[in-house]
Amino acid sequence: MKLYAPKYYEDFKCIADKCTHSCCIGWEIDVDKEAMKKYSKLKNGYGREIKNSIESGEAPHFKLQEDGRCPHLSENGLCKIIINCGEEYLCDICREHPRFYNYTNYGYEVGIGMSCPEACRIILNSDSYNDFEVIARGPGDIERIDYDSLIDREKIFTILKNENLSYENKLNVIYSEYEIDLNFVDKASYLDCINNLEYLNNSHRTLFSAFSLESKASEEKEKYLERALAYFVYRHCTEAVDYDEFKISLSFCLFCEKLLASLISDKTEPDVCELARILSEEIEYNTDNVEKIKELFINYEVL
Ligand code: SF4
Repeated sequence: MKLYAPKYYEDFKCIADKCTHSCCIGWEIDVDKEAMKKYSKLKNGYGREIKNSIESGEAPHFKLQEDGRCPHLSENGLCKIIINCGEEYLCDICREHPRFYNYTNYGYEVGIGMSCPEACRIILNSDSYNDFEVIARGPGDIERIDYDSLIDREKIFTILKNENLSYENKLNVIYSEYEIDLNFVDKASYLDCINNLEYLNNSHRTLFSAFSLESKASEEKEKYLERALAYFVYRHCTEAVDYDEFKISLSFCLFCEKLLASLISDKTEPDVCELARILSEEIEYNTDNVEKIKELFINYEVL
């Protein structure tokens, strides 16, 4: 079995203490069974600190401090588990973040998620979103399904890469090819849905209320929208098991593209990355929010 990755994947490296929005703040991290076993055998002094920091129960996790920081995040932004015990003592979630995996008819794929500022910077500045390479090989047979989402995904990437089309026309071709019309849902329903999503930071509810289907970004920012849309499609459409599911996921991706266009239309370049990161963290990283938005399209029979 092969593991594929977009070319830009190899450029990613956690920037740890230089990170502007560390994943070690604000998120309660579940500790997997393997890591629990390793921690229970730790004999050095820091082993006790690790064990004391875990809230046991159905889903054991690191107890966040009052300020929302992981108890193992040092003052200068480094991980004390790595410093004291080594990287091999990280639990699965900490070791893997911000990576995500897709299963396809050809093997596994890995990507980096835009909720991480460094991954977001790489994704929004890379045009190699349609170039894939094999980065690992392992045992196991592929279980193929009838529907091959990679054919539709490739079709979308080819449209996005077409240099003879303006960005607006690329979007028009995608909407028409997949018979998707986001205007079937009225603005009040979009805003009502956005208002009723779950938020990590409540001020983002107000931020996202800028959503408009008419929003357009300037020409120099269209490249960011194109790369973000390619990322959304890679992350959310690949595991579709049939054409209808692909279309629902694609509608969600096009909604995210419109939301990002609404947020960045009057912003300077560094803001674009941060706004894309916020959108990713609040919306596409929250499976309940993703489902609520997809329901909009199902209820209104956009598809
Ligand atoms: S958000 Fe990304 S860059 Fe920042 S600490 Fe986490 S993995 Fe590293």
